[in-house]
Amino acid sequence: MNEFELIDRYFNRPAKRAVVGIGDDCAVIGVSPGHELAMSTDMLVEGRHFFAGTDPERLGHKALAVNLSDCAANGARPRHALLSMALPSVDEAWLAAFSRGFFALADRFDVELIGGDTTRGPLNLCVTIVGEVPAGQSLLRSNARVGDSVWVSGRLGSAAIGLHLLNRNRGQTPISRNRSLPRGDSRTPIDCDRIALSHEAQKAAIDALEQPEPRVALGIALRGIATSAIDVSDGLAGDLRHILERSRVGAQIEVARIPCESWLRAMGDCEASRSTAYRALLAGGDDYELCFTAPASRDADVLAASRAAGVDVTPVGSIVAGDALTIIDRDGSTVSMDRIHAFDHFR
Ligand code: ADP
Ligand code: MG
Repeated sequence: MNEFELIDRYFNRPAKRAVVGIGDDCAVIGVSPGHELAMSTDMLVEGRHFFAGTDPERLGHKALAVNLSDCAANGARPRHALLSMALPSVDEAWLAAFSRGFFALADRFDVELIGGDTTRGPLNLCVTIVGEVPAGQSLLRSNARVGDSVWVSGRLGSAAIGLHLLNRNRGQTPISRNRSLPRGDSRTPIDCDRIALSHEAQKAAIDALEQPEPRVALGIALRGIATSAIDVSDGLAGDLRHILERSRVGAQIEVARIPCESWLRAMGDCEASRSTAYRALLAGGDDYELCFTAPASRDADVLAASRAAGVDVTPVGSIVAGDALTIIDRDGSTVSMDRIHAFDHFR
């Protein structure tokens, strides 16, 4: 099967919204009146962002989900996607499963695949997303104000525990979407071995890692309400810091208020696993929840947006003057910063 047969069989579906879809030199799309385009791209590299042998259907989901999550953080409605892939070989079973996972999510969010590139090489999956947002209404990182509340959607930390479990099962060094090769990573790997997680909790943790649910409806519902937003892909502390830097403010958040599953809460309660739980909650990455700020006077609107989107939101702290992120522990002490730094590829 050559490149064109492969594209036709697994990725070419008739364009419904695009003016020109797959098959020409460029895709051509229109823009709804009064709207702007919001664009983002995210690459997943085997061995760095996912394990060799990861279920291709889940990979198809995740490759698109991480991009939809960027749209969510912008408040944009995702519309079109481009998919560029390097494949070590033409494995039809793999391609069928990958495209099944990709299109299942694309269909759920009414996203049309309009083009891409296919080449031979080490497995590498890159999706580019194009979304639409009413002009001037993009949620940015830069408008948080002193006195705003800091909110988080869903529950944090599960994906980091899922990554740990996969690492442990495979006896490999830790990797994740946002984790560099071990060489540059001075942190100790997450260790929850001393806590017996139920089978259900383990499955939930791995599902959170491999099947993140992009919070698109919430991002859209927060237009005109949130003053800033970001999706949590590198851990809450690091991602919130991006908002603080761009908005030139500080924040104070409380560990006890960060929403998480009961089993992760239990890990935090236990001395032996506390630092693991805190690392997962604050610097875990791969959560793909939204962290956003909104004036305290708009609490009711935030909660209405949450109900409309069907996603829980939890206030975890507030924006303060200055530039520091202060994380308050349950006993009122400050959580030490070096434990909670989010990962940076180039550090
Ligand atoms: P060109 O040589 O002009 O770059 P290609 O031969 O790479 O075109 O691709 C042919 C068509 O197939 C283009 O419309 C391109 O966007 C599309 N395409 C290639 N790979 C993919 C893919 N993995 N998913 C979706 N569309 C793809
Ligand atoms: Mg090409």
